[in-house]
Amino acid sequence: MTRANLAKDLAHDIDPATQLHLTYVYGPVPSRRLGLSLGVNPLPVETKVCNFDCPYCECGWTVSDRPAGRMPSAETLAAELEAKLAACQAQGVRLDAITFAGNGEPTLHPRFCQIIEAASALRDAYAPQAKIAVLTNATRLRHPDARAGLMRADIRQFKLDAGTEAMFRRVDRPFGGLTLARIVDDICAFDAPKMLQSMFFRGQSAGAPIDSAAPEEVEAWLRHVARIRPTEVHLYSLDRTAAEPTLEKVSPGELEAIAERVRALGIPALAF
Ligand code: SF4
Repeated sequence: MTRANLAKDLAHDIDPATQLHLTYVYGPVPSRRLGLSLGVNPLPVETKVCNFDCPYCECGWTVSDRPAGRMPSAETLAAELEAKLAACQAQGVRLDAITFAGNGEPTLHPRFCQIIEAASALRDAYAPQAKIAVLTNATRLRHPDARAGLMRADIRQFKLDAGTEAMFRRVDRPFGGLTLARIVDDICAFDAPKMLQSMFFRGQSAGAPIDSAAPEEVEAWLRHVARIRPTEVHLYSLDRTAAEPTLEKVSPGELEAIAERVRALGIPALAF
């Protein structure tokens, strides 16, 4: 499969108006961090479901952190994944990963663990070299089903976008009583290898200036990274259209400088 075909596939999988995935299984997508990856969206296709409302989100603003009764069943997801894996196998496409992300926070699916187990079995049958990866905001680590599912994955990328509670409330805009302190505690207590993914940006958000890469914020963020001791940290800035159009990208040089400070802690880091 050529890169042009992959891009065409991806374009068909995303609604150009809302940026939402139109299918439960999409791609394969050439991912910068995971290689050739088949995406799984275990959330509704017509709306975003998340317990954060990040202004940089590529899926637009969060309408609700409660599934609107349209969560796909575990059986539907498994059937779509099997069909796509069989097609990849028939075309000789060698996948590096099966990645759970999609239209919001994937661990909010009430049968997340069962879905991961089914995906692992299908991976073993069709693409044994592929890793099962989950991109998560790490807010559900105290939930037994979400935790069990994450333990069964091969790669976990936990979001950590802020160093202070004040910045956390602005860059991730959590629902309910979620705090940065609780999330960092939960990531530390998660007893399996874990990676961090961190987004930095600046500009205007909710009518006020914001700079998550300000020196004091990066200092505070580094203290959490040092405490968590992840296997690797991936740093990003804006890539696609953000929910808040007034946000600005942090330069590659700035991201690389932050990555260098992570490496100085003895932790591998990549700036994308
Ligand atoms: S956690 Fe992810 S899906 Fe949820 S609002 Fe933030 S960027 Fe979007």
